[in-house]
Amino acid sequence: MPCDFLALAQPGVQQLSPYVPGKPVDELARELDLDPAGIVKLASNENPLGPSPKALLAIQAALPELARYPDGNGFELKRRLAERYGVELAQVTLGNGSNDILELVARAYLAPGLNAVFSAHAFAVYPIATQAVGAQSKVVPAKDWGHDLDAMLAAIDEHTRVVFIANPNNPTGTWFDTAALERFLARVPERVLVVLDEAYIEYATGGELPDGVRYLAQYSNLLVSRTFSKAYGLAALRVGYALSSATIADVLNRVRQPFNVNSLAQAAACAALDDLDYLQRSRALNDAGMAQLEAGFAELGLGWIPSKGNFIAVDCGRDAGPINQALLRAGVIVRPVAGYGMPTFLRVTIGTEAENRRFLQALREALGQ
Ligand SMILES: *Cc1c(COP(=O)(O)O)cnc(C)c1O
Repeated sequence: MPCDFLALAQPGVQQLSPYVPGKPVDELARELDLDPAGIVKLASNENPLGPSPKALLAIQAALPELARYPDGNGFELKRRLAERYGVELAQVTLGNGSNDILELVARAYLAPGLNAVFSAHAFAVYPIATQAVGAQSKVVPAKDWGHDLDAMLAAIDEHTRVVFIANPNNPTGTWFDTAALERFLARVPERVLVVLDEAYIEYATGGELPDGVRYLAQYSNLLVSRTFSKAYGLAALRVGYALSSATIADVLNRVRQPFNVNSLAQAAACAALDDLDYLQRSRALNDAGMAQLEAGFAELGLGWIPSKGNFIAVDCGRDAGPINQALLRAGVIVRPVAGYGMPTFLRVTIGTEAENRRFLQALREALGQ
């Protein structure tokens, strides 16, 4: 009898369901024999502008050094991030995407017998990172699709080491305001690490969302996680970061792979950080596209969850699976979110005006209207 290497896996890993990414364009093209150029992908919250031209130039300039290991300390990127956000260099941790940051937190602070608290319909990486290290997930029911911060506080017990909160949350797009965050931070026990996931914070304008960085000086148990994958348009390069106390950053750096952020990613992120014009255009395109999709949904008589991200969850009012299939056949890739406990919803990334229009047309046909 051969050994059962599934049964030999750590119990948390045995029960893991792997992350389901948005379907790649080439995969759909292969499956349905479609022209990849005609496919619209609005499934992974990618920036429809493509990367910043400044980031592309920086990558080109870094190419001749590819034979060398990257700066394992990420000095220049950390220096710029520290300067931008008014923190010490020692408070910055770089990640291979902010996904990496979430895993570093889990590896450093969670273990069997301990738990992490997070909301229902929250980002799928929280349960994966938690279970992968054998810790328990305490999933708190949502309130109006968003985080019920009071219930999350109540769920914290003596074995809780981490609370994951996303503002705005993916895939719901829901958010909480400054007063809610302040009330929450003031009441979380000091020994519980609050991971405030701000993957979409750059899309917020004019104080709509609290800026987690402002609370770092006051709360040594706060970690703010951010990414270059969304508004900065560098998803393929995998670069994100955490801002926290220097002590937490030191701990995360102990479990971090020595060269977790590659040199092209570091160069591109430095350049993208300075391209405020690109960020401004990303934001403006997102605002316009959000309004376009909301108007389209209203016309189709569909409900949606108001969102502060670069995506929106639309309620098809029935099982969204067949509608998703029809969209795929029309060459439009969006994200079904049944796995997030939202079987009647589809999550749609805000695209260009033309991509949004194409999606709305395909949706109209898929609904039989
Ligand atoms: C996209 C996303 C991330 C991480 O993306 P990376 O590409 O790994 O930086 C983290 N949190 C949320 C809520 C996200 O939606």
